[in-house]
Amino acid sequence: IKIKLDVGMASAVKDEEKRLEKAAKLDAMTSVFNREATMEHIRRILSEDNDKQHALFMIDIDNFKGLNDTLGHQAGDEFLIGFAKKLKKHFRETDVVGRIGGDEFFAFMCNVPDMKLAIRLAELMLQKLRKVCEKYKEVGLSASIGISMYPTDGNSLEEIYAKADEALYKAKRNGKDCIAFVSSVE
Ligand code: GH3
Ligand code: MG
Repeated sequence: IKIKLDVGMASAVKDEEKRLEKAAKLDAMTSVFNREATMEHIRRILSEDNDKQHALFMIDIDNFKGLNDTLGHQAGDEFLIGFAKKLKKHFRETDVVGRIGGDEFFAFMCNVPDMKLAIRLAELMLQKLRKVCEKYKEVGLSASIGISMYPTDGNSLEEIYAKADEALYKAKRNGKDCIAFVSSVE
């Protein structure tokens, strides 16, 4: 009986260790990857599959402060949770979806053959996100997406991050609720 008990305890400890290890990589509020884990996963994919094309989507909620200000921080948190869930559902298990800051998310899609497909995917994503934002139209809630491609826009995470950020800025400047990219599509 003692041996059985010890084995049972050891596996319970292992399970708990696994749970804690996983929790450390996830954003506590939305349960998508946290910033650190997101970067780590993208770096790994870029080093392992450097002969393929990948797409990085940088997503930022438009006028999110307005939601916090009118309905409160709690409502803002709840919105972020639903938003992240919808975003995660749009992607495959092999893709990387993470929260990299307050109302900012990364979605990294592996093996996207060309920019045109990346644009189509971003448009589809935006359509889905519009549905999530619809409820809060009165505060002007929507989402903007900046797209960059590996290796067209850069050979490292830093480079494609910078391009996606630049593209996101362009989407905001173009009036928000839209997608944008800075590389030329052949
Ligand atoms: P923009 O359209 O230009 O993106 O402006 P914005 O109002 O969305 O504001 P911005 O992206 O510049 O800043 C994000 C805001 O999100 C700042 C902060 O008040 C809020 N925020 C950041 N983290 C959280 C969070 O965990 N919960 C809630 N409720 N709000 C957060
Ligand atoms: Mg925002």
